[in-house]
Amino acid sequence: MKSVVAFGALVCLAAASPQVAARRPAASPQAAVRVERAVYVMGTRARLVADAVDRTAGLARLERMVRTLEETEAGLSTWREDSALSALNRQPVAVPWAAPGRLCPLLGELERWHRETGGAFDPAVGPLISVWGLRTGGRQPTPRELRTATARAGFRHLSIDPERCRVVRRADVTVDAGAFGKGEALRRVLEIDDGRAGSWLVDLGGQVAVAGVAPGEAWAVAVAHPMRRDDPVIDISLSRGSLATSGGSERDLTVGGARVGHILDPRTGRTVVRCASVSVWHDDSLAADVLSTSLYVMGVEAGLRWAEAHGIAASFVVPADGVDGDAGSDTVTVRSTTAFRQRFQR
Ligand code: AMP
Ligand code: MG
Repeated sequence: MKSVVAFGALVCLAAASPQVAARRPAASPQAAVRVERAVYVMGTRARLVADAVDRTAGLARLERMVRTLEETEAGLSTWREDSALSALNRQPVAVPWAAPGRLCPLLGELERWHRETGGAFDPAVGPLISVWGLRTGGRQPTPRELRTATARAGFRHLSIDPERCRVVRRADVTVDAGAFGKGEALRRVLEIDDGRAGSWLVDLGGQVAVAGVAPGEAWAVAVAHPMRRDDPVIDISLSRGSLATSGGSERDLTVGGARVGHILDPRTGRTVVRCASVSVWHDDSLAADVLSTSLYVMGVEAGLRWAEAHGIAASFVVPADGVDGDAGSDTVTVRSTTAFRQRFQR
């Protein structure tokens, strides 16, 4: 058993259990069957669980959800040349690009989050991802390379007109969906939900969404230790909305013995290296995704201040040997905003 320091009224555990454990609700006549599916999508092994009146209805629901995740990935993935986002990234500088379908309002929304978070959230980090080699095993850029990439990165180089769905790249900047794609996908999954009886859960690794939950039938979701994904430290009951977690445990790289974070501070061009993780709950899964990345960039103190001031339900998990320590000890400190404590305390 590990010792855990809990701030607020959170229940903090240290038992070995899966990262997301689905607590089976009492069998109800409306949702008699539980069906599950695992699928590789959006760069992660997704797990989908649905309760339904019968197997056929449950499987149909899972199939609709998988299709929606795949369609979102097809539009937003910059690992695919044929996605709409890749087309934007290839568009010649200064030549207007017509943003198709949902990408048009989405880009406007992302720009608003960029402003709201004081630039901590900035999906136009493509040049920084390249210069740090984040898709090719990592590298240390020279100071000159870093200056050039930092100057070239950033939403400020995009001129977005959501009314006319026109986007102009004013510099050779590229947009990356890493910090918002899963949130957008879960939002679309929620939208296609037909509202029939039975709850469901979609787990995309760093982000979970649930819906259709009857009173007393919440899903049990665990937030893992920041450095060890199989080590749960916070157990919460999720009855609606989405919980997104950003941290360095899995996707950070090591270059010449130094850690290179996969999340960047767009304001400095440097990668963010912390042992802490931050989880954000929001009714809107896009907001949860955007804000978990943003608060991670801001750091524990500034992030908590920002989240508190904006009424956001957020919780940082900090290993006792410090935010910027190396391995992260077993003992963790949980620091949550008032909105998070009010939602999840029992
Ligand atoms: P997440 O796991 O949701 O926190 O998203 C991290 C991913 O978002 C990274 O792997 C990058 O692809 C991208 N990213 C990194 N830094 C930022 C940032 N400051 N703002 C927006 N996207 C970012
Ligand atoms: Mg995110």
